[in-house]
Order: sequence, then structure tokens, then C-alpha cells
Amino acid sequence: MSAPQAPVQRADFDQVMVPNYAPAAFIPVRGAGSRVWDQSGRELIDFAGGIAVNVLGHAHPALVGALTEQANKLWHVSNVFTNEPALQLAHKLVDATFAERAFFCNSGAEANEAAFKLARRVAHDRFGPEKHEIIATVNSFHGRTLFTVSVGGQPKYSDGFGPKITGISHVPYNDLEALKAQISDKTCAVVIEPIQGESGVVPADVAYLQGARELCDKHNALLIFDEVQTGVGRTGELFAYMHYGVTPDILSSAKSLGGGFPIGAMLTTEALAKHLTVGTHGTTYGGNPLACAVANAVLDVVNTPEVLAGVKAKHERFKARLEKIGQQYGLFSQVRGVGLLIGCVLTDAWKGKAKDVLNAAEKENLMVLQAGPDVVRFAPSLVVEEADIDEGLDRFERAAAKLTQA
Ligand SMILES: *Cc1c(COP(=O)(O)O)cnc(C)c1O
Repeated sequence: MSAPQAPVQRADFDQVMVPNYAPAAFIPVRGAGSRVWDQSGRELIDFAGGIAVNVLGHAHPALVGALTEQANKLWHVSNVFTNEPALQLAHKLVDATFAERAFFCNSGAEANEAAFKLARRVAHDRFGPEKHEIIATVNSFHGRTLFTVSVGGQPKYSDGFGPKITGISHVPYNDLEALKAQISDKTCAVVIEPIQGESGVVPADVAYLQGARELCDKHNALLIFDEVQTGVGRTGELFAYMHYGVTPDILSSAKSLGGGFPIGAMLTTEALAKHLTVGTHGTTYGGNPLACAVANAVLDVVNTPEVLAGVKAKHERFKARLEKIGQQYGLFSQVRGVGLLIGCVLTDAWKGKAKDVLNAAEKENLMVLQAGPDVVRFAPSLVVEEADIDEGLDRFERAAAKLTQA
């Protein structure tokens, strides 16, 4: 047994933590499936899923089993040595996707950092230093390192930290003409979220992604899909690129990949991967045996016809009820998204008030997310039980009723 720790409360956050987050007033202490309990023993239903991370809910037996089994064997060896869980995970991802090579890291930002560095390296090796420009989309989100906030291009994340990474431009999302006008032979990569997550759950049009693929091929640019939020079953396919039928050259994954244990992955082809020669890139923890053991278990459960088909069925269950609630209370103008990444767009009357909806839901013992100020986001476990969906949406309806009648 470990030594008992001193009791703590939410107020301690303001005493000892850097104030870059504003966490909720309660502290979750335990979870099981799609239910979470706080310090006072209050039970909540979790439709937030740790921001599209807890892909199999809380304390899933397969993940707990994989983690504890590995915890008793080997935690860490560094990349001076390889390890069995990492190689098994790489095989699984290579077998299941377009990719032929995997690079492991610890977060979405790191997966994108690797993707952007690889794209620049490939262009540098093949065409020279001129070809280094990256095109991203307006309102995109790729993480919080300096390179990834520069590519994301949202001033609220990127400004005030001194000079940004240069050679990056931004074009409106889902606007093929804008991309066509911007792309050139200096472009080394185009990076797109197949569904923009953080900025409102905005799915790409199929024709947009197809057109981006063609433009990249024409200009010898690489197509990068940031699937940190959309990957690992979220859309009802293992990765969103499969849903769209458009294959990228580089794909970044994280969030759901570890089901709550930190891990990220960059997937690519053999021909591109070979440009990251020994010593060109790396990270101490990347491919850590604990993380990879959990991710192996995540993929074993998620990449099955039952779970993936279940995501599509649960989407319909959420969408039908959310549309009804949205209409009845004049709250939503649209319910959009794919699979279990769902965004409810607030009506003009409620624009800017997503946080109020979150707070109202929390009062009814329900955890949901926002995606910007105008969209309420749902990213629950892919195996959330129907009874939990119905009970959670009952709670959401009570929240909507109280909020709109207040
Ligand atoms: C969350 C997210 C990231 C950043 O992932 P971190 O693990 O927070 O670094 C990058 N891209 C997208 C699309 C995301 O949703």
C-alpha cells in the first residue's frame, strides 16, 4: 500500500497549479463505464469522454487488465531498446491502415509535430529548402507546441509567445478554390482535420478532401490528416479517412488511441518514413511499454465490426433525441458530426452561451463539452450503453428545460 495522501479540494487548484485551466467545481475520483463519481459521492453520466479520449469509458476491464499485466512486467526502457508492446501496436496499426510505418509519442501535439517535421524533411531532401510551406485551415487545432499553434493559426492560442514558426498559411475550411489558389510548388504539406473538432465539430465535404488529395499530388505536396480527435473508431470507421475514402500520406493519432493512457502516433508510408533517419527525431517516452500495452487493448476492442457498427447506431440515437430537444427548447439550429463526435449548434438566441449549457448539464449530473462558444459537443465512450444514453439525454433535457425557462 502507498502512503495516504493529504486531503485536497478544488480550492487547492488555485493555490498550487499554474492557472492555465479553469476546471469544474467538483473533483472526479472514480469512474466505471460511462458513469463518474466525485468526491462527495455524486454520480454523473459522462458524455465528455475526457475530450474524445475515454473511448471505452472508465475502467474498461480489457484496458485495466492490459495495464496491470504490463505494470508487473516492464514500464520503460527508452528507445535505446525496442519493446514487445510497441512492435505489436505498430503491426496492428500497419495491418489496419494505409500506413507502413509508425512513430510513437505521447500526445496529439507531438504526433503533429512529428508529422510536420517529417513533411518538411521529405521536401528538403527531395526538392531543397525552398519547398517548406505548410497550408492549414482557418480555425484548425493541432496542439499547443509552438509549431502546432503556428500551424493551427488561431491567435488566441498562438499570439503573445514571440516569433512563430514561419512558412505557414491558412485557407478557409471546406473551400477547395481557396486551397487551389494558395497551393504552389513551394508547398510541402497540406494539413486538414477530416472533421474540425475544437472549433465546432465541422465535417469536411467528401469533394473537398478528394480535391485536396488531387492538388497535393499535382504539386508534390504531402496530405496530412490530423486524426487526433476523429481517429480510433470515433466516426464508426477505425479512422475518418476510411469514412471519406481519401487516403493521406501522413496521419496523426492520439486521444482515443490510449483510451486515457497518454500516447500519440504518427503513421506514414515506408517511402516517407525513411527520411527520418537515425537521430533525426525522437522522444524519451515514445512507444513506452505501458502506453503501447493499453493501446493494443484499445485497438483489439474498438477495431471490431460490433463496436464500429455500434457507433453508427448510437449516433442515430443521440442525433434523433438531440434534434428533438434542440427544437422543443429553441436551443439548437443544427445537430452535426459523424459517429460519436456530435456538435449541437446553438441558435442565435443562445449563441456564445455553450458554457451556460455545460453548467446547466452539470447541475443535472451530466458531463458534456463545448467546441467553441457556439457549439455543445458530445464525445462519449464508443461502448456507452443505450440505457446510459437515454438516461443522460433525459438529464440533458431537464437541463435544457431549466435553462430556457429561467
Ligand atoms: C486534441 C487535439 C490535438 C492536440 O492533442 P494533445 O494530446 O492535446 O496534444 C491535436 N489535434 C486535434 C485535432 C485535437 O483534437
